[in-house]
Amino acid sequence: KATIIDGKAIAETIRSEIADEVRHLSQKHGKVPGLAVVIVGSRKDSQSYVSMKRKACTEVGIKSFDIDLPEQVSQSELIGKVHELNTNPDVHGILVQLPLPKHINEEKVLSEISLEKDVDGFHPLNIGKLAMKGRDPLFLPCTPKGCLELLSRSGVTIKGKKAVVVGRSNIVGLPVSLLLLKADATVTIVHSHTYDPESIILEADIIIAAAGQPMMIKGSWIKPGAAVIDVGTNAIDDPSRKSGYRLVGDVDFKEACKVAGWVTPVPGGVGPMTVEMLLKNTLDAAKRAIVGFRKSL
Ligand code: NAD
Repeated sequence: KATIIDGKAIAETIRSEIADEVRHLSQKHGKVPGLAVVIVGSRKDSQSYVSMKRKACTEVGIKSFDIDLPEQVSQSELIGKVHELNTNPDVHGILVQLPLPKHINEEKVLSEISLEKDVDGFHPLNIGKLAMKGRDPLFLPCTPKGCLELLSRSGVTIKGKKAVVVGRSNIVGLPVSLLLLKADATVTIVHSHTYDPESIILEADIIIAAAGQPMMIKGSWIKPGAAVIDVGTNAIDDPSRKSGYRLVGDVDFKEACKVAGWVTPVPGGVGPMTVEMLLKNTLDAAKRAIVGFRKSL
């Protein structure tokens, strides 16, 4: 029977570790980390992510700078705001919530964030360094970093293992594949054009599922004893719930529990880790700015 990786409990432990470090930093240096969270427009999902991030900051003693811009803001105004935050010494991290409205070029905006403040890890240079051997990005994207943290805190070794990543998006699949490669796994990426994904996934010691396809990975697709990290967060109809829906992952959790060595639930697995990794990146950015600490991967 699989060990269920309790992402919520691990995230709580990390949150208290971060709060301790923030307290220590402020006692020793009289400064607190600052995170600017920029949101454009009023998408409901973005607003709920942003308020979760801002609340988490406050909880650990990180100062949150709230920048709320209207849907119609021009690209140059938004970039002007980013530049202002780049030069504000109290802001150590800048996060621009995605997606941005259609009239704004996301890549252009992300590339204007100062590398030292790119706590989401999406600056093309940080991603580029992630892809290169012997180069360390200043920051790792939060969800992929959370996946690896769950593996390491559960005692799963990566080196030399066969890892299969399902999905190749810029925010999850691709960066998590690069991270696993850096950690010396043999990595295969399965995507929407892959022929016979089942037989490829069946070979994996480590599965990272990030396709956004409800319960696509069945128990029979999982090698006995494999570690399964389910990033997928899919709402499916459930008339028995007051909300009318429930969240499921990309993996059939019940079946996976019978075969896998480790498995993350949805919700309560990868989800809670993403915010903690953002706080951790912000703390690292602040340490680097305040005490000149150098972080290597
Ligand atoms: P995306 O839609 O941008 O990318 C999905 C990827 O999966 C694509 O690369 C596509 O090729 C691949 N794919 C689609 N159908 C497939 C299939 N049938 N077989 C194999 N590959 C297939 O999605 P995303 O932004 O990467 O997110 C993926 C999932 O992770 C979503 O459910 C999302 O909600 C979730 N997510 C969770 C967190 C978190 O928990 N913190 C963060 C980000 C995304």
